Amino acid sequence: MAQRTEDSEPLRGDDTVATRRWEVGSAIVTSVVEHQFDRIPPEFFFPDATTEAVGRHRWLVPDYADATGAISLRVQAFVIEVPGLAAVVDPCVGNGKVRALPFWHDQNWPFLERLASAGFSPDEIDLVIHTHLHADHVGWDTRRDGDAWVPTFGRARHLYTAADLEFARTSGMEGEDVFGDSIAPIIEAGLADVVAPDADLGHGLVLEPSPGHTPGHVSLWVESDGARALITGDFLHHPVQFAEPDWAEIADADVGLARETRHRMMARAAETKALVLGTHFACRPAGRVVADGDRWRFEPV
Ligand SMILES: [Zn+2]
Ligand SMILES: [Zn+2]
Repeated sequence: MAQRTEDSEPLRGDDTVATRRWEVGSAIVTSVVEHQFDRIPPEFFFPDATTEAVGRHRWLVPDYADATGAISLRVQAFVIEVPGLAAVVDPCVGNGKVRALPFWHDQNWPFLERLASAGFSPDEIDLVIHTHLHADHVGWDTRRDGDAWVPTFGRARHLYTAADLEFARTSGMEGEDVFGDSIAPIIEAGLADVVAPDADLGHGLVLEPSPGHTPGHVSLWVESDGARALITGDFLHHPVQFAEPDWAEIADADVGLARETRHRMMARAAETKALVLGTHFACRPAGRVVADGDRWRFEPV
């Protein structure tokens, strides 16, 4: 079972606070962490994995796995600042939500406080980008106000792909209503835009379809002054998948397509030498992908 990191600040492997920044040309990307779980049995998320198999990839220790082969996973949002625009990507689980998974249910994380200490007020956010609409990627889009769920980023456009809106409407875990509490209030407030999965958002932000985990899943390229970064979303969940790209994650909707997407996106990331920002990567979520035989390895920066 996943176990919550006892003391969330400072987080393990991060000797400052729960935010970190990287420059991509003249763009700045900041990670704002909601939570991180350590010492997770890998088969909890990856049915094909074992601690022995994880343990063979020594480069995962200590940031992404411990010496026994147990893994760490983090839930974090990335904030992108480019001249004239601030965007949030995948705003985590949120507080006070009714969720089927006990470790996400009715939580009280200091995410908005961390966002503020990173220098952002929710009202300054122009754009909320979703790689997909699972519960851990849309949570902070709304916050509780009395009996209602209201938009957190009150003047931001919130972007969705049509395929994932449909998927979110028609799927989901029993005992929770992610669409009702975190997506419908955004649509009702007139803050939702449906975009193509390969949309050029301007300001050097470009979506690329990376389907399989969900039908309308996208990843985000950030391009500025010749530099490039890639925000993965959930086409992979953990750096071990660079070495084991065929390992499916428990929530992959189309396992075969997700596998194909991982191979394609990992090859692209290695070839472009992009700064890869792993949405669920623990401790040091940014790095480069390097070829390792017919597989890959992740070198954190
Ligand atoms: Zn997901
Ligand atoms: Zn996720």
